[in-house]
Amino acid sequence: MNLSSRPVAIVTGGARGIGAAMSTRLAADGHAVIINYAARREDADRLAERIRATGGDAIAVQADVSDPAAMRTLFDAAEARHGAIDVLVNNAGVLDLDPIADYSDDRFDRIVAINLKGSFNGMREAARRLRDGGRIINVSSSVLPLRLETYAPYAATKAAVEAMTTVLSRELRGRSITVNAIAPGPTATDLFLDGKSPELIERMAKMNPLERLGTPDDIAAVVSFLAGPEGGWINGQVVRANGGMA
Ligand code: NAD
Repeated sequence: MNLSSRPVAIVTGGARGIGAAMSTRLAADGHAVIINYAARREDADRLAERIRATGGDAIAVQADVSDPAAMRTLFDAAEARHGAIDVLVNNAGVLDLDPIADYSDDRFDRIVAINLKGSFNGMREAARRLRDGGRIINVSSSVLPLRLETYAPYAATKAAVEAMTTVLSRELRGRSITVNAIAPGPTATDLFLDGKSPELIERMAKMNPLERLGTPDDIAAVVSFLAGPEGGWINGQVVRANGGMA
């Protein structure tokens, strides 16, 4: 077994948007990072190369988080390279908005499969395989308390993730593993910006008293804290990183 001298972190959906900022930040903090991606291999390979070029340790590993077997393969790849895993960031997610009346079965099944089952698949694997002292960090959304129209299926998946976060933190009693969730507010990534008018983006940016969108780095800073030595006393919590929006 080739035990890494660095803590080992898996970031799902870690090649783009908030996940890319998390991968970059965790690598800069000294983690060996496994950048998971679903389909766009070039993005993931390029990010891993960029991290390695600055002295970090990163590899890209393909896996669809909604598939339990693929999640196992992702953990297998991390263990094969480093011998152990310390941090899982369940970041992969999709946003698909429409009123309930217009939502098809296929779309509902897909958002549940990726956001909810994908997070469950990651949590289950992490609960079985993380080294004692590890960290599990889920990604929810600050849209939950806003009760916005068209967000019902998305918000429902994130509410379920928050529920599982607290329960899992208790189930891991005795192993010094913390389980928390981060709930970003509107953050400037493709997921948030795609399909929204400039006016709507502006309005949503002003919903918080700091009057701007979050950046992927704002959210990565919270992951850095929760995954790092200073964050070890935070457990079973949802950190609402949203500039004060909700
Ligand atoms: P993004 O679309 O830029 O990134 C999402 C990532 O998830 C992509 O890398 C994508 O490839 C990956 N992904 C999607 N389906 C996958 C699958 N089946 N298997 C593996 N990877 C998959 O979006 P983002 O804004 O960076 O979102 C990251 C997380 O933050 C999501 O969970 C999202 O719900 C959450 N979030 C985002 C915002 C926001 O305003 N951007 C706000 C609250 C919460």
